[in-house]
Amino acid sequence: MSKIAVIGGGPAGVMAAVTASKNNLNEIFIFEKNGILNTLLPTGGGRCNLANAQYNFKELAKFYPRGEKFLYSVFSGFSTNDTLQFFEKLGVKTYTQEDGRIFPVSNSSLEVKNALLKEIDKHKNIKKAFEKVLEIKKENDFFTVTTNKKSYKFDKVIIATGGKGSGQKFAKHLGHNIVELRPALCSLITMENFSDISGITLKNIKADVFFKNKKINNLNGDILFTHKGVSGPLIYKVSSYHAYVDFDKVNPLVVSLNLVNKDFGQFDKEFLEVLKKNPQKEAANVFSEFLPKNLATKIFEIENINPKTKSGQLTKQNRTALSQKAVNFVVNITGRSKGEEIVMAGGVDLKEINPKTLESKLVKGLYFCGEVMDIDGLTGGFNLQNCWSSGFRAGTTCERSEPSAHVNKVDEMEKF
Ligand SMILES: Cc1cc2nc3c(=O)[nH]c(=O)nc-3n(C[C@H](O)[C@H](O)[C@H](O)COP(=O)(O)OP(=O)(O)OC[C@H]3O[C@@H](n4cnc5c(N)ncnc54)[C@H](O)[C@@H]3O)c2cc1C
Repeated sequence: MSKIAVIGGGPAGVMAAVTASKNNLNEIFIFEKNGILNTLLPTGGGRCNLANAQYNFKELAKFYPRGEKFLYSVFSGFSTNDTLQFFEKLGVKTYTQEDGRIFPVSNSSLEVKNALLKEIDKHKNIKKAFEKVLEIKKENDFFTVTTNKKSYKFDKVIIATGGKGSGQKFAKHLGHNIVELRPALCSLITMENFSDISGITLKNIKADVFFKNKKINNLNGDILFTHKGVSGPLIYKVSSYHAYVDFDKVNPLVVSLNLVNKDFGQFDKEFLEVLKKNPQKEAANVFSEFLPKNLATKIFEIENINPKTKSGQLTKQNRTALSQKAVNFVVNITGRSKGEEIVMAGGVDLKEINPKTLESKLVKGLYFCGEVMDIDGLTGGFNLQNCWSSGFRAGTTCERSEPSAHVNKVDEMEKF
């Protein structure tokens, strides 16, 4: 029997604990400083987008700006189908939205949390310790885990403290390199002032983004104009791909948005046709057949064209400028909205973790899973999928690997 400490009771830690507890071979402690699975509650706006309908694991891995290749091995053992079957067994039925995102039929993250809590309780070899871990030390063959209440000894430790927990600090202390943490999946601040159109959303539009010198094809999603700039799923993706790009007011990041999802020629032709059909109508009103009214008017203002100009009197030069703006709406990004990020890029350096076992290459018996590692995905259920898959892998390896002889010996004497 091994004694295993799981540090962090988020989705990754819980998955690791229930997996490692199978067959009653091990004794597992979950250390959680807040509530177990509390971090699951706000996911998907309370609906818990727990996976995405990408059933080929290599395709699935493409949705991770950091961790893609590393995840091949992790996903080959536990992927989307396994997630759905796992939850089905727990009694959580799921459905797939048109955009591929998968939710529980109940649309309730509380249902997912409760099903997992019930699963933990089924395993009598899992103990819950509502304690804050302060330090993890490796001495000879065993680990000493010190919390705000006491010290424990373990054969193995799984760090699952998420993107913002203390896991990176523990890993660093144990000799690991930590890739700089950066907010990803967050709203962006722009040089342009969009407060007059804040609240306007556009569905499924496209953005041009280059990542590692390659253009990301088909980067689309909804966007929302805000008082400070831009937000929404598409902007989250843009922020994720640019997590390590420095930008500010002096050196803004220039992002081109296609507001109408058409190329210039096609859009200009359609715009011209509608203008011709309505020569007496105000041109801004005609333009608003393609875009929300306030945004259409704003584009006229940006281009210094009177929105009251009659369609029949709009010059070719003006029409071209408007069409160009619709397909190439440039925003200058000067910053990230602080504290609102959905995930953190960065974390424990993947070069120092064995992707087949999720064991540290530096410290025997130390494992990682979830967001504490330098892995983050786009929005759409990918970050939770990483938790289920890596939690499963870390738990499985721990369940099967040999305990350290030392802890059992110490244990016999100390009976902790
Ligand atoms: C608002 C919001 C919505 C989201 N929606 C989705 C979504 O719909 N789909 C999706 O895929 N992803 C979503 N995410 C991302 C997803 O929730 C995270 O990627 C995921 O929770 C990471 O899981 P984790 O187990 O690695 O870490 P966490 O969920 O962060 O859990 C880590 C746990 O460790 C505990 N901990 C940390 N340090 C210590 C310590 N020293 N001692 C004891 N305990 C400690 C923490 O209290 C916490 O409970 C969302 C995130 C946010 C913020």
